Amino acid sequence: MKGKRVFVAGHRGMVGSAIVRRLASEDCEVLTVSRDRLDLLDQAGVRRWMADNKPDAVVMAAAKVGGILANDRFPVDFLQENLVVQSNVIESAFRSEVGKLLFLGSSCIYPKLAPQPIREDALLTGPLEPTNEWYAIAKIAGLKLCQAYQRQYGVDYISAMPANLYGPGDNFDLQSSHVVPALMRKAHALALSGGNNLEVWGSGTPRREFLHVDDAADALVWLLKNYAGDSHVNVGPGEDVTIAELAQAVASVAGVEATIAFDTTKPDGTPRKLMDVSQLFATGWRPRYALRSGLEQTYAWFLQHVEKGDVRLGAA
Ligand code: GDP
Repeated sequence: MKGKRVFVAGHRGMVGSAIVRRLASEDCEVLTVSRDRLDLLDQAGVRRWMADNKPDAVVMAAAKVGGILANDRFPVDFLQENLVVQSNVIESAFRSEVGKLLFLGSSCIYPKLAPQPIREDALLTGPLEPTNEWYAIAKIAGLKLCQAYQRQYGVDYISAMPANLYGPGDNFDLQSSHVVPALMRKAHALALSGGNNLEVWGSGTPRREFLHVDDAADALVWLLKNYAGDSHVNVGPGEDVTIAELAQAVASVAGVEATIAFDTTKPDGTPRKLMDVSQLFATGWRPRYALRSGLEQTYAWFLQHVEKGDVRLGAA
């Protein structure tokens, strides 16, 4: 990394901003560009920016992401935007002779009923989870595009498959967020009102593998520095919890004695997506946060920033 110019696409998002924080301790120059100066949907603009700035490496952390309901409601946005943005960045990087690129997939792009824990080679072995297949198809295409560039041109374009991420900078808009920020916001509302009815979508039985975004960023930078294989690499803690257990933990972190009310009119999504992280762990990498301490750190961030008014809350 020494002296290298690393472009982080999507630096305002939760993952991109964590990667920028993590790269600050590397001896490299971090390049970012704001959305009003460069729209990643604009192919000519991205080609021009890449040619003008000539990064040595690119981390592709820009993506349209959202929770289970947003994915279901806005299929065009999730499929179209992701396809276009990722193709623009990957192709422009290649045209500008970028030697290294890291693309991010997600554990939700594995088949819905993949054997657990999910190994890297389970990709494309079965039908997808219908609530997020739009996002999954786009991400699979991105992953395959990196692999195709590797095969055809021998460039070092790699992919990582992060677990469900949470942490500072997350989206706390209840309509579009993932489960951790949603439950934090709801628990916080109970803490303020003195109520105790914590509404949890679905049955509470699905299991999810949660990774703090700073741990994710640490693993991603590690891969950027050390990994050059043609398979994507799973990135997670290798442990999962039920949504009911998560809800109890979040309530406890917020200091709320909660009674959980399951709203079974909302979807459960895939029953389980625990990844096999033996490839990553074999390198010696381990996460620093246990789920409880990661939730505490994130809730503290939320309290601090909600006060300042710079948390993404969406419409009331
Ligand atoms: P997923 O991993 O793609 O399903 O993404 P989510 O983080 O949106 O949802 C994970 C699980 O948490 C699903 O089973 C949801 O039904 C459940 N869940 C429970 N309460 C909530 C909530 O308030 N918001 C969201 N997004 N999910 C919730």
